[in-house]
Amino acid sequence: MTDRSKSWRVLGLLLLSLFFSLSFSIKGQVVEQELKEPELVSHLRFLSSDELRGRKTGELSNWVAARYIAEELRKYGIKPGSGPDYFQVIPFGTVIPAERGILTFGGQTFSIDKDLLVRLAPISDMNGEVVFLTHALPDEVTANVKGKLVLAYLGGEDEGDPLASFGLTVEKKKKLKEMGALGLVEIYNGRHPWNLIKRYLGTGRMVVLDQSDDPEFPTLLVNGVSDKVLENIKSSKSLDFSLETDGTRIIETPSPNVVGILEGTDPKLKGEYIALTAHFDHVGTYTSRDRPATQKDSIFNGARDNAFGVSALLAAAQSLGEVPPKRSILFIAFTGEEIGLVGSRYYTDHPTIPLSQIIFNLNTDGAGNSDSTIVSVMGLNRVGAKEEIDKGCEEFGLTTFADPAPEQNLFDRSDNVSFAAKGIPAPTFSPGFKQFDNDILKHYHQPSDEAETIDLNYFYKFCQAYAYTARLIADKSSRPKWSGGDKYESAFLELYGTQK
Ligand SMILES: [Zn+2]
Repeated sequence: MTDRSKSWRVLGLLLLSLFFSLSFSIKGQVVEQELKEPELVSHLRFLSSDELRGRKTGELSNWVAARYIAEELRKYGIKPGSGPDYFQVIPFGTVIPAERGILTFGGQTFSIDKDLLVRLAPISDMNGEVVFLTHALPDEVTANVKGKLVLAYLGGEDEGDPLASFGLTVEKKKKLKEMGALGLVEIYNGRHPWNLIKRYLGTGRMVVLDQSDDPEFPTLLVNGVSDKVLENIKSSKSLDFSLETDGTRIIETPSPNVVGILEGTDPKLKGEYIALTAHFDHVGTYTSRDRPATQKDSIFNGARDNAFGVSALLAAAQSLGEVPPKRSILFIAFTGEEIGLVGSRYYTDHPTIPLSQIIFNLNTDGAGNSDSTIVSVMGLNRVGAKEEIDKGCEEFGLTTFADPAPEQNLFDRSDNVSFAAKGIPAPTFSPGFKQFDNDILKHYHQPSDEAETIDLNYFYKFCQAYAYTARLIADKSSRPKWSGGDKYESAFLELYGTQK
């Protein structure tokens, strides 16, 4: 190679790099403007296709969706954040219900076809003593539970939503097992009909097979313990019981969160991470939900919920991968959202980056849009990033709308809450709606939630707005924090220390 050709080559390289830096830094130029609608729509169409059969947690189609997301991340230059395949595999198991079950104490008998639900039980009959502890919350549990079955009300002091109540069961079991109890019988006292609860918990339920939800620890639910029996057990401290059952069985049905990492460009700020998240699982088909596939369309495609949000996540991976921001980015596509926010909770309990380094979570999830001029943001005014979120949307001709349908308590119903509970400011960025009305319910968890019924122009702008908002927050000079007095503020102070 001659000197002359070398210098031409150097000049060429210089021009080329000048061109690239110009094309991304010309005043007013926003990288996200370069995202292409057909590419984003292809994510949406693939993930919500009939072939992916509703991406139910633990099913093959759910793994195919995870593989697609992982390979797209790889294509956009995002590094694996958990194993070479980007997969954080969650050890899920599917509970095969017991066929036989009779529980007797204090002269009252509960049976599996009526008022008893054998949630989990090893395959053996049991008998002994049963004691009553009002809610059996961890601080109520004393040494006298050793070798005994514990009877308690489901949930805690205040009757929260059923998910929270069943979440508490896991904590109760942990403590009871530690103290040597035989098992837990909870008394159902919720507002939903017993038959609905029985169906929901009784068929093909999934559990995480680690210490937190020990499948070997007998867990039962009964409906309608008589006052007489309750008084009896309270005054006599314990009663005899017998349980006859063939027990539950568990089939291993693992499913992955998909985790990717992009390193930030600022030597100091790159130690801080913005977690961008969206759940990719949905509810499967009529068959996999144990409902007869008699409908014309038996596939819950979940285009809005949440192939839409995953596409926005991939849009961010593409544009941020192309021109990385100052802070580092953690991309996580969650599994297990539809079965109770399990994927995100598993992640925040088993983080791949110390939680104190994750300074913000921008989650995206939704049920659909009935207003194509807005982005609805759960927590908009609470998480210290309103300016960036407003600006990110405005760039694409959208305005923000804070906390629609407050009666639905949506802030606490998506994966952002797993981060919020740890103290991390965490809003959810949702397709535009103001009320949870028939426009939304028409497609919410219905087979009609398909890509063909989506306003694709709005979808495109939404994805761009999400990606640009993520960039603005990742480049923000100061760290976002909760508004003063927010219910998650004390967790924030605990996580990051009071000086932050
Ligand atoms: Zn969702």
